[in-house]
Amino acid sequence: MNLIFATSNAHKVIEIASVLPEGYTVQSLKDIGFTEELPETQDTIEGNSLQKAEYLADKLGVTCFAEDTGLEIEALDGRPGVYSARYAGPEATYSDNVNKVLGAMQGQPDRKARFKTVITYFSEGKNVQFTGLCEGTILTEPRGTEGFGYDPIFVPDGCNLSFAEMRLDIKNQYSHRKKAVEAFLVYLKNSLGQHISKP
Ligand code: IMP
Repeated sequence: MNLIFATSNAHKVIEIASVLPEGYTVQSLKDIGFTEELPETQDTIEGNSLQKAEYLADKLGVTCFAEDTGLEIEALDGRPGVYSARYAGPEATYSDNVNKVLGAMQGQPDRKARFKTVITYFSEGKNVQFTGLCEGTILTEPRGTEGFGYDPIFVPDGCNLSFAEMRLDIKNQYSHRKKAVEAFLVYLKNSLGQHISKP
């Protein structure tokens, strides 16, 4: 089964491709030659995830999925949350965003945070969403060079390494994105089964 993924983020494509079982392939916007930027103007992670999937499905008349992810930090009342990509401004780099979080968290003893991924599958005018969470803590300085985004300052619960100090297969043992994909795959298997069993 080929899945069209409404994203131009190469890191997300690699992560999702790495957890798909045999028989599934994924194509990004680049792979299908779609160069337009997708709108992301909602004020929730769920809303942005739906907006991206619905936009592409309407525009191209295809079945597709999208995901939106945010880092929710308890001591910052859930920020950067839905604004994770542009926390330090519209043109912010990953390291600008990391530095802004570290500044906001300076001297803060409560380091609890979580990543939240919401996948939206859009097919035949209907959508269904799947959420994956990863609880953890925010470091006081960046560690590691793997991954992307806030990975260098996030340590998942049950581990001493930051996401950026892990190989992808280890990140996948904890990852919010992997959990959301797993729920999505269960849904796909069940709904494909139902289609096959219909007379
Ligand atoms: P969006 O889902 O494309 O809006 O991305 C939100 C932002 O969250 C990205 O630009 C990254 O900075 C960050 N982000 C998303 N997923 C991860 C992850 O797995 N690890 C670290 N940072 C992430």
